[in-house]
Amino acid sequence: MVYDTRIISDSDEDLQYAAQLIKDGKIVGMPTETVYGLAADALNPSAVADIFKAKGRPQDNPLIVHLASADDIDKYTQNIPETAYRLAEMFCPGPLTMVLPKRECIPDITSAGLDTVGIRIPADSTARRFIAACGTPIAAPSANLSGSPSPTTAKHVFQDMQGRIPAIIDGGSCCVGVESTVVSFEGDNIVLLRPGFISPEELSAAGEVIIGKGITEAVSDGEIVRSPGMKYKHYSPKANVTIIEGSSEKYAEYVISKNEIGTAAMCFASETSELERCGVKCVPYGNTSEEQAQLLFLRLRECDELGFKQVYAHCPEKNGVGLAVYNRLLRAAGFEVIKL
Ligand code: AMP
Ligand code: MG
Repeated sequence: MVYDTRIISDSDEDLQYAAQLIKDGKIVGMPTETVYGLAADALNPSAVADIFKAKGRPQDNPLIVHLASADDIDKYTQNIPETAYRLAEMFCPGPLTMVLPKRECIPDITSAGLDTVGIRIPADSTARRFIAACGTPIAAPSANLSGSPSPTTAKHVFQDMQGRIPAIIDGGSCCVGVESTVVSFEGDNIVLLRPGFISPEELSAAGEVIIGKGITEAVSDGEIVRSPGMKYKHYSPKANVTIIEGSSEKYAEYVISKNEIGTAAMCFASETSELERCGVKCVPYGNTSEEQAQLLFLRLRECDELGFKQVYAHCPEKNGVGLAVYNRLLRAAGFEVIKL
């Protein structure tokens, strides 16, 4: 089916309209504090199947289920470990997804056949008003075409989903900018499956944190990972992305030596003037890890809009939120890193 995709506001009236679409088994683009999601009724297998189709997402990559309130967690999951309750108290609502044993009511297609389900309670007020209006848990992966950078504005969702879905709720720019931190549990330990705004350092207040496979190194073909999403190349613009690790001086020297038509520097904001003085096209992505998280996907999309063929990204910090930025960049770069 081809839709005349509408961007709608976050007024009560428009949210009611969008909620009715969900009740009718349709898909809606939804803002959250992390990135925009493609929302459908998590309990409706055919609506969920349409999410996979709209995104071109591999069927073995499970969806996160979004709830309006943490009080609903045990309606959809069971055998919840103590550590999960502690994390929920600290970070829900917020950019944290907890993988927990699912109850029967969650269809297999939503959890990609796993006996667990990822649960998140978004902090964004529009998301929560919308989920509450839907009156059902909402399955929502990021609203990009599979493989491309996640959307952080309604316009990005429109670029990828035009004609594929009936409506997108415009909630402005996402304040976090990278997807949620995903964790699972092993005994009393927390296993980090995907880094996000909530850092390993913050998680460790609730229990020991084990860093899962695939976060800072590539997973080889056929290798079993706890989080299926970690297998796939992701977040990539059309340009080839290479990460350059080293000081600002060495980074500038390297990029200037490689500068040619179609090349861009995804540099720290503070590095722009020096590089531009030497004729390098810059796509600056902030200075702090928080700014970089917020701008990363926007800048990767801009690289395509500006038609760059080769992008040299200056390697971010690898701790705090920086770990999430590094993880997304590694996947955009297909793990191509040059250490200077
Ligand atoms: P996205 O919805 O595109 O932000 O991606 C969701 C991420 O959470 C992917 O990396 C999934 O593999 C991961 N995920 C979701 N549910 C589960 C689960 N039940 N077990 C392990 N990983 C999960
Ligand atoms: Mg995604």
